[in-house]
Amino acid sequence: MATVSTREWKNSVIKEDEINKYLIGGKDYIDAASIFSALERQKNPDVRMIRDILQKSLSITTLNPDETAALLQVKDPSVWEEINATALAVKKKVYDNRIVFFAPLYCANHCVNNCAYCGFREANNLEVRRILTMEEVRKETISVLREGHKRLILVFGEHPSTDVDYMTDCIRTVYSVNEIAPNSGQATNIRRVNINAAPMEMDKLRKLKEAGIGTYQVFQETYHRETFEKVHPPHTLKGHYRWRLYALHRAIEAGLDDVAIGALFGLYDWRFEVMGLLYHTLDLERQFGIGPHTISFPRMTPASGSWLSNNSEYMVSDDDFKKLVAVLRLSVPTAGMIVTAREKAGIKKEVLQLGCTQTDASTRIGIGAYSDQQKEYNQESEQFTIGDPRDLDDVIREVGELGYIASFCTAGYRCGRTGETIMGMLSHCVESKFCKLNAVLTYREYLNDYATPKTRTIGEKLIAQEIGEIENEPYFQQKPHLLSRFRSDYAGILEGKRDLYL
Ligand code: SAM
Ligand code: SF4
Repeated sequence: MATVSTREWKNSVIKEDEINKYLIGGKDYIDAASIFSALERQKNPDVRMIRDILQKSLSITTLNPDETAALLQVKDPSVWEEINATALAVKKKVYDNRIVFFAPLYCANHCVNNCAYCGFREANNLEVRRILTMEEVRKETISVLREGHKRLILVFGEHPSTDVDYMTDCIRTVYSVNEIAPNSGQATNIRRVNINAAPMEMDKLRKLKEAGIGTYQVFQETYHRETFEKVHPPHTLKGHYRWRLYALHRAIEAGLDDVAIGALFGLYDWRFEVMGLLYHTLDLERQFGIGPHTISFPRMTPASGSWLSNNSEYMVSDDDFKKLVAVLRLSVPTAGMIVTAREKAGIKKEVLQLGCTQTDASTRIGIGAYSDQQKEYNQESEQFTIGDPRDLDDVIREVGELGYIASFCTAGYRCGRTGETIMGMLSHCVESKFCKLNAVLTYREYLNDYATPKTRTIGEKLIAQEIGEIENEPYFQQKPHLLSRFRSDYAGILEGKRDLYL
């Protein structure tokens, strides 16, 4: 077969018909004028109206644009206290008090794009380019398994040499690796592989589905079109605003119904981006009846050779960051919310208490950085800067001290609780019950297989408390078969069985 040049490949990626079919009346779902006018209309929201909005959110209903705009415009610190407390209450109702842990695995950093904020961009000569071989992917997987991870997100630049076939090879390689847990000698493996990659056409998305991915994640970066076009040069693949805007519509249609949205905060006004994430959610709900599985809100951090990543006029302060997390939690109550290791430990700890549901730990973003432990990774030459490099055990201990149980649950997609099914269960607060059971089962595995003595001491107390709550939960009293399955699975794990879930 003749080899395809990079230019030919680039010309073959975007399919206009896979955009146009989702437009309504020729228009996309971001109407900047209506976002600005909602923010203007709600400039001075009345406190009684805010309380009504909080009640609506507590009933696990997606807010409308005016309601989200009103929350974004609150000035009074005491009202923010109410907002923050409600954000946490909503999270507890939908996801109980567990935090899901994962690790990112950067497979390759070749990229045909030139995003102004990213160290991987083509024109950045400071970046050392590398594509992991399958043997290296295997080694990386072993390293993260030794930490205790069960969930990975694979991250890729956009390049013909790391297109979908390379991705599916990586996915299959990760799933094939087995390792032995250090404390117990039990066998362990990665149970869920998610993907963060460029927008793709339907045929490629179907290949990802066949390879067994969990969530497909694409960040819009900015919903503000002019800014989008400024930071993504024209004639690059990433410069096509609408191709990206509908990446997840295509994914759902291709059968990948756990889709993850996000915006890179720091490119444009943070209030506008929160509204953009809401509009994205509303359009997915309108066209497919399901919202995003998760929302991410990475803040831009310094990247190698990127002037913008150090100098943007829209950098988000810690105070505003906390506000946007709380408002997103309330606006899309069913979505999981991911805070990443881009954030420093202190602020991460704060936003975990505002309703975040997932975080990464022991994160390395250099290509091959987990297994090349001896190598000093030069942050200057990475995609962006990590704020929280702590080990998984340290973060699990910290969240345990706060009363949150660490979860490695991967039951959802393996039991068919995805897409519409999980959305229904989330909005009726039923999924939280399964979250709790599976969190306890996977936490039990972690405490036996990996935890340091200090973490185990905290964990044993917490797990006893969680089991007490499960035993007294009215929902389980009415479903005695679930309770007895849970009891026998828990006992099974103590006896050495693994990967039991409900
Ligand atoms: N190449 C794919 C794409 O652009 O969609 C995915 C991989 S990219 C490595 C993953 C995400 O990293 C981007 O979507 C962007 O939001 C984020 N990112 C890029 N530069 C960043 C920076 N300087 N600080 C924080 N996050 C950054
Ligand atoms: Fe490439 Fe993605 Fe980085 Fe843009 S954000 S330069 S597309 S890796």
